[in-house]
Amino acid sequence: MNPYTIFSEIIAGQAPSSKVYEDEDVLAFMDIRPVTPGHVLVIPKAPARSLAELDPVMGGKLFQVGQRIAAGLRESEVGCDGVNFFLADGVTAGQEVFHVHLHVIPRTPGDGFGLRARPTTPPRADLDYLAGSIRGALSRIAER
Ligand code: AMP
Repeated sequence: MNPYTIFSEIIAGQAPSSKVYEDEDVLAFMDIRPVTPGHVLVIPKAPARSLAELDPVMGGKLFQVGQRIAAGLRESEVGCDGVNFFLADGVTAGQEVFHVHLHVIPRTPGDGFGLRARPTTPPRADLDYLAGSIRGALSRIAER
């Protein structure tokens, strides 16, 4: 799959964006289809289509910049009193642009934003079983 997306054009200055923050590794700009006013996207400058391709150090930096943007949103005229982070990894998760991006979504009461879900209450044995399976996968990944 071609790693070149609209976000690559924004990084290169070949497509318009409303920048909020920039350093040598990361760019943050306004989402053109905000789910609430002040919705910001934080992206790594080095293209990575998915979390699997993203340098973990850069993942940490995305989160750090997201924290700063969240603080800025609270002090800005956006005037939110809450913030959600959201990251869609993969088509099934709702990813549309295949250049990793962290959504920073300001929240105000009654703004209409929400995640639809059907939480369940599995028995502890089921939780323990899946926890063991995930621990096993983490060990295998660490050995690679
Ligand atoms: P996702 O579904 O997580 O891949 O989200 C992609 C996001 O990118 C959506 O919220 C879009 O509104 C946003 N988006 C797409 N093109 C642009 C653009 N040119 N400038 C700013 N945001 C964009």
